[in-house]
Amino acid sequence: MGVNDWRDHAACKGLTEDKGYDWFPARGKYVTTRQGSQVSGETKTLLDICDSCSVKIECREYAIEYNQPGIWGGMSSRQRRALKKRRANGLEVL
Ligand code: SF4
Repeated sequence: MGVNDWRDHAACKGLTEDKGYDWFPARGKYVTTRQGSQVSGETKTLLDICDSCSVKIECREYAIEYNQPGIWGGMSSRQRRALKKRRANGLEVL
């Protein structure tokens, strides 16, 4: 079993073809639908998909380790950077 086999179980897998946007992290692409401080309807939908994903933790940890942009593991890159900083300061282990 490869280290990135969690991708085979991604809830977002295959969404790129019929939704018109690139999202599945296996292809190294991402969506940028956040508009200012508001969460757009599309982003909300994507985050909802993450919420139901069985590999959310694996996805998030990968994105944190490799500094990926966009939504991975139910978090924006800004949220993951903040989490990484809190961990470095010993404030939170998620
Ligand atoms: S947590 Fe979200 S971005 Fe990560 S694999 Fe699951 S659905 Fe895709």
